[in-house]
Amino acid sequence: MKNLVIFGAPGSGKGTQSDLLVAKYGFRHISTGDVLRAEIKQGTELGRTAQQFIDKGQLIPDELMIEILASVYDSLCPCEGVIFDGFPRTIPQAEALKKMLAERGHSVAAMIELYAPEDILMARLLNRGKEQGRSDDNEETINKRLAVYHTQTAPLIDWYKAEGLHHYVKSYGVLEEIFADVCKVIDSL
Ligand code: ATP
Ligand code: MG
Repeated sequence: MKNLVIFGAPGSGKGTQSDLLVAKYGFRHISTGDVLRAEIKQGTELGRTAQQFIDKGQLIPDELMIEILASVYDSLCPCEGVIFDGFPRTIPQAEALKKMLAERGHSVAAMIELYAPEDILMARLLNRGKEQGRSDDNEETINKRLAVYHTQTAPLIDWYKAEGLHHYVKSYGVLEEIFADVCKVIDSL
């Protein structure tokens, strides 16, 4: 079983690469953003809580995210492997993920960092806002999300380096080349 963390700033291409990986390797995919958006759409209590944070460009509290993640994980396993997309986003979430997997005799096989410069991220997200109408894909909220990424999420790069699990992939340019680089990492595990 190969559990993978697909990591990167907002707009770095986590969802796009995850969909390609699901098609090629048959992995299951947990996108915490998609899980939260589905709850919002269904109008659940969790959805109402999540919306308040998302619309301000903030993260949902760790305890809540960790609880959601464990229950989604258990609903998908046993399987070939799970792609964690959008989780962890903080060091406490990374520690909780490690513990949750260890309790099940599982682990993270690799963390893949998708990197793209900020002007490219901004252009992609503004374009997605126009095409898909996501409420958080407007310039003001994007700037807040990028700031949150730098302060709360980017420290995970060093955290995963210390775990010996970090892999860097350049995530701009030709889509097929980016995917080939991601596959190279997975095939080397
Ligand atoms: P990408 O474009 O690379 O898929 P993204 O940052 O645009 O990434 P999502 O991953 O869909 O978007 O997340 C959207 C929002 O959901 C976040 O800004 C945050 O408010 C909330 N969220 C998602 N995952 C988490 C998490 N692990 N912890 C806390 N909040 C989260
Ligand atoms: Mg996404």
